[in-house]
Amino acid sequence: MKYYSTNGQAPLASLQEAVTCGLAPDKGLYMPEHIRPLPSSFYEQMESMSFQEIAFEVAKAFFGEDIPEADLHNIVYDTLCFDCPVVKVEENIYTLELFHGPTLAFKDVGARFMARMLGYFRKLSNDSRLVNVLVATSGDTGSAVANGFLGVEGIHVYVLYPKGKVSRIQESQFTTLGHNITAVEVDGVFDDCQALVKQSFMDKDLNAHMTLTSANSINVARFLPQAFYYFYACAQMKRLAPGQDLVVCVPSGNFGNITSALFGKEMGLPVRRFIAANNANDIFYQYLQTGKYNPKASIQTLANAMDVGNPSNFARILSLYDNDYQRIKSLISGATYNDSEIMETIQKCFADNNYILDPHGACGYRALKEGLKEGEAGIFCETAHPAKFLSVVEKAIGTEMSIPDRLAEFMKGTKQSVAMSKEFTDFKAFLMQQ
Ligand SMILES: *Cc1c(COP(=O)(O)O)cnc(C)c1O
Repeated sequence: MKYYSTNGQAPLASLQEAVTCGLAPDKGLYMPEHIRPLPSSFYEQMESMSFQEIAFEVAKAFFGEDIPEADLHNIVYDTLCFDCPVVKVEENIYTLELFHGPTLAFKDVGARFMARMLGYFRKLSNDSRLVNVLVATSGDTGSAVANGFLGVEGIHVYVLYPKGKVSRIQESQFTTLGHNITAVEVDGVFDDCQALVKQSFMDKDLNAHMTLTSANSINVARFLPQAFYYFYACAQMKRLAPGQDLVVCVPSGNFGNITSALFGKEMGLPVRRFIAANNANDIFYQYLQTGKYNPKASIQTLANAMDVGNPSNFARILSLYDNDYQRIKSLISGATYNDSEIMETIQKCFADNNYILDPHGACGYRALKEGLKEGEAGIFCETAHPAKFLSVVEKAIGTEMSIPDRLAEFMKGTKQSVAMSKEFTDFKAFLMQQ
């Protein structure tokens, strides 16, 4: 399968090239040339299949031409070491819990899958040089990438994060790992971290000295595997809400997660329509209302993993539907909630259903509750475990909540990090010594 760039100015790429480069040379995002629908026999049997079995069938449709079946099987089964159950919250409203992975957030699947695919291609290329992954994080991405790549042979990860700007729980998830993970604590803000990463990729000396790559969320190996979640969710819904029209609601920031679900729909997934739930960063919502896409600077909110002012995967959505605004509008609706609505929603859902939402899931739950029509059943994604946002959630529900063992374990570890200024010369000097 070949991959084309959404900007249309770059040559077609192989899977290996698309995964290794991340972004296309024309700065566009890679898209698979074909989308293969799954056969009706698959849809008839899916309710009796496991998460891994379902994911393997989906992975074969994406990557089966490029990776031998046995290797792809290993990558998929090694990635999915956890479940993603659909849980009933109230009448007709279900949640797809995407937080049972190693860092308790939905990015775990993409990060683990990408790490394993990159490891596979590195072995294949007979290149014995170490591959160095640079990732800038404001919290969640760093933990998912660090844990996803932990122990993967031949790959070293540098996580750059802004000093004092990530929560203690988040910091512990990437500073306590050791092995092939180095945390770099930058005396600056997230944008400084991102600038250091970008400058590194452009620096001649550094690129001559070491092989550098990014684990950015636009990478096809991180983004496409998220579709696994939606196939497994629909399989579970056949049992939980048979015969009802399905609506899928995804709390969205960069729109990678929802775009993977839209790919699923093109492959035959029985979903009637989608809702993209935004926090106060309402660029996509405004696009749906007006047909105009106006990126803005991001605003800080309680659902901070969705604080995105220019969603990178918007280009993929346009490409998927040939820029057809009416078609996009008929398939996806939007919603936007500010911080006080998020707090109120967490509080009310807990009072009504005894279910604890995180700030991102709260946007999803509310959008679904307000948007569901007669005869429909809906699933919203819980994209992170509420304990990752402990102080916000406890304030909303007015009571203490327990922290899952896995999070508590991270917090017991010893923090190891390299202190760094925000000057590129310092970061470069550090990397040149590695
Ligand atoms: C990354 C993230 C999102 C947004 O996902 P996109 O794919 O960027 O739309 C939502 N919730 C949480 C908890 C996240 O970490």
